[in-house]
Amino acid sequence: MAKGVGLIESVRNIADEHGLKATKYRIDANKIVQEAEKILREDYTQTLMISAVLGQMVEARGRDRFPAPAFFAFIEMLSRIPDAPRDTKSESSTEIEDRTTRIIELMTTLVSVLCEWSEKGIVGVAEDCPESLRDTAKAVFRKTKLLQGGLWTCISCGEIVNVKETRALMCTNCDSSISRSDIHKRFDQMAGRNRTGYGRTSFEDVDD
Ligand SMILES: [Zn+2]
Repeated sequence: MAKGVGLIESVRNIADEHGLKATKYRIDANKIVQEAEKILREDYTQTLMISAVLGQMVEARGRDRFPAPAFFAFIEMLSRIPDAPRDTKSESSTEIEDRTTRIIELMTTLVSVLCEWSEKGIVGVAEDCPESLRDTAKAVFRKTKLLQGGLWTCISCGEIVNVKETRALMCTNCDSSISRSDIHKRFDQMAGRNRTGYGRTSFEDVDD
């Protein structure tokens, strides 16, 4: 998976589009995380849709493919946020599309700054990675290395399995315990949150 160069290039392109000089501009990883968290906390349906789209994109081939390291960063982000409120207002599809695009940009940029890259891809945690994001960077690095070796980390239980034996990014056990069509349940189990019901998680640090 020699995706390293392509990813860095795409970050440069994003920076160019926004009139930023990627080489000069110091990207603040904490700000990226804050913005992504804000989007993911906004609304349950929206976060569900974003997760579904990114899950499909990471499995896609060719141009539409979402780089696996950026997807791993997204999973880490999901595990950081408490349940997004379930509201009854429905976002327009354009709004959700915009937010999805933004999350793709943010996660791609995030992994480019948190991790150390070479032409072979991720080679470690970036030297100037902020202390608070070191665990995220390590998780991205570890999961990416595993994937390069043909192994996938189940997005639900964290079990490491042969990438060829995964179904919809889950190990076969998790996949068979969830009906394929039950997108809500599938999402609720993403990032191994083991929710027992809506609005409750196994985390104790839910601060609202
Ligand atoms: Zn699993």
